[in-house]
Amino acid sequence: MWLVIFIVVAAVLWWFINSSSKGTTKQAKSATTDPTPVTVSLSVSQGFSSSTQVGIQPTEHGISIGTNLPLPLTLVGLDRNDAERLAKAIEQRDTYTARGWLTTLVAAKNIRCKEIDDWISSYKPKFEAAVNQAITSSQDWAVASDLDKEDLLAEFQLHAIENLSTRPSDTATALSLLTEEPSDLSVDDELLARFGDRQELYPVLLSAFSYGDKVQIVPIGSYNRKEYEELAALGYLKRGSDIDIAAILSRMTLKQMTEVAGEAATKKFTRKAAAIEFLKTLPDLSERISKVIAYRELFQVAPLEGIDVTEIAASYHYSGEVARLILNTLQSGAYVADEVARAKEFTPEGWELSADDCCPDCKKLDGKTWKRPPQKLPPFHIGCSCQLSWL
Ligand SMILES: [Zn+2]
Repeated sequence: MWLVIFIVVAAVLWWFINSSSKGTTKQAKSATTDPTPVTVSLSVSQGFSSSTQVGIQPTEHGISIGTNLPLPLTLVGLDRNDAERLAKAIEQRDTYTARGWLTTLVAAKNIRCKEIDDWISSYKPKFEAAVNQAITSSQDWAVASDLDKEDLLAEFQLHAIENLSTRPSDTATALSLLTEEPSDLSVDDELLARFGDRQELYPVLLSAFSYGDKVQIVPIGSYNRKEYEELAALGYLKRGSDIDIAAILSRMTLKQMTEVAGEAATKKFTRKAAAIEFLKTLPDLSERISKVIAYRELFQVAPLEGIDVTEIAASYHYSGEVARLILNTLQSGAYVADEVARAKEFTPEGWELSADDCCPDCKKLDGKTWKRPPQKLPPFHIGCSCQLSWL
């Protein structure tokens, strides 16, 4: 609708300017030397200005977030400030930006969500029993190789997850919750604590971890370059000429290596390994490389004493799943609450539930209609993707 208004305003403005330019030349001249500013102010729809307040309430178990929403969540380990920031992110529909922050917070403060924990404790035994049942009744299992067993197990697990009566609609997330929960949530605490008030660097370091000891090329202006520089300054990453030259060579293309060799090359390079062996014999290799690639944009993870990088990355991944579930569940509750609130002005003919891609229990309700908003509003459980819409 705003587009239409904008076009109308633009047309009127065009007509106005056009008709005044048809006036005397004198007038037109004075208009160019002494322009009268024409301000067109469009009041743009605020969209979520009427959004539902999330509501925060301390309880005996922790802090309840979303007391005004259909499904409040009880978070343990969160302080009041963090709770308010989380509520604000939901109110502003800014869960995308909030996700990184909440993931790091969950990892750093070992935050627990009671509703997620409750779901895990009631469904994990059912899930494990179903997987064991599938293994016992499988004829392939006994004769399968180790790799085939992995493949079969993934299949059994997926099947078991899909059939859990109530679960997060996203099966990969549900699987993570049931199989990837770190036995020790505090594995990353020591490393995280080192970042103090620079916690935003932590997820960047973790993404750097995922490259192992491979040299990473991070050109100026690219996403995270600033953070990479800071991490290098703090000693978590090696940068430029501090990186072992063989590691740098292995990241170069044959074309670049040919360029580095220049006149010195005795024959055309066809294989990287042979090219690297040859280049290593050049005494001024480092200087030659610096003419082909910018050393400043090369980074490599520095060895971290006493830190199990794989374990830490797994723990962070799990925290990410927990953060996403919390945000998605609260946000979908906020949308439903908004719809119910707005309907007071419009009085829709009825309400319909879409539960097509949710869990088996929710699917049973798909397409159900009500004259007025039902007593129990979605989300019905953690990670529920059900939606309620007007008819
Ligand atoms: Zn659902």
